[in-house]
Amino acid sequence: MKLAPIVRGLSDVLFPPVCVHCRGLVEESAYRQLCTRCARLLDFVRPPHCPTCGHPFYGDAEGGLGCPHCAGLAPAYRKGCTAVLCRGPARALVLELKYHGGRHVLGDMEAIFRRSPSVLARARGAVLVPVPLHPRKERERGYNQSALIAAVLARAAGGGARVVTLLRRVVDTPTQTSFDRRTRRDNLKNAFALDSRAGLNPSLHYLLVDDVFTTGSTLNSCARVLRQAGCLKLDVATFGHG
Ligand SMILES: [Zn+2]
Ligand SMILES: [Zn+2]
Repeated sequence: MKLAPIVRGLSDVLFPPVCVHCRGLVEESAYRQLCTRCARLLDFVRPPHCPTCGHPFYGDAEGGLGCPHCAGLAPAYRKGCTAVLCRGPARALVLELKYHGGRHVLGDMEAIFRRSPSVLARARGAVLVPVPLHPRKERERGYNQSALIAAVLARAAGGGARVVTLLRRVVDTPTQTSFDRRTRRDNLKNAFALDSRAGLNPSLHYLLVDDVFTTGSTLNSCARVLRQAGCLKLDVATFGHG
């Protein structure tokens, strides 16, 4: 008998897993931190979706009107994709990881990636580059959530996918949420730089990874640095959108 299931079973008795979204008990769910009811609310992104930000097209955006979620972005990368829409339970997972030290949700994020074929296809065999946090913020939080998400995505995707830290955040930008798009873009100018130890190979496929696609400004700033450093095959993947 293996020890891990026993330990897990025992800890479930002592500390029954609680759903991060509704705080109910999690029983017989495909997820560890989402109950079956909340798991059904997960909004998986299926094609067709916007090639830049990954938001699903619901018919209306397909007639050449463009995507309202990434309008004006001028991406410095090729394609963007996302696993789920960032609301309800998916949002709860992201917030738990980001603000409550909730590394225990990473298993569920991996399970969600495993059910997201288009994200897996992009990540398979790729060099995954997490969007960096400023060192001060990373020290405060204890980790960079994007790096942890990249790690579970690499594991789910396989094919030699691996996480490499290529970028540094050199400017400690203020929290973005209170600014409009233009201010966000200006704030992010030169906020990122190539890690001096980093070596780039233009024949490899690189995939920038972040927790959430919001306006795309952060990801695009990172993409610009990688492009300038000679990264040709560059795509973007996020856990959630919105
Ligand atoms: Zn629930
Ligand atoms: Zn879009």
